[in-house]
Amino acid sequence: MAQFGTCCTDLKDVMAGEDFEPLVTAAENGVLYMSVGLIEGEKDGDEGGMVDHPVFFCPFCGTKLQTEEEVRAKGGFEDDDATA
Ligand SMILES: [Zn+2]
Repeated sequence: MAQFGTCCTDLKDVMAGEDFEPLVTAAENGVLYMSVGLIEGEKDGDEGGMVDHPVFFCPFCGTKLQTEEEVRAKGGFEDDDATA
């Protein structure tokens, strides 16, 4: 997981996120995601959840962090129709 946050201190600080829940997080599969929105629960008791999207470039300094191919290889696209 140490491959993200090395490009600049801004991303490093965000990912450290001790005082808040970061919206940019590295998943267990090694893909870096950014939360882009909220899904509201459709019925009572349904809490909904965050919508995550893979991040390809650092939002702070523009460094390329990962490629679409890398994300795909790690299974980072949940909605992808690939069988792997
Ligand atoms: Zn950066």
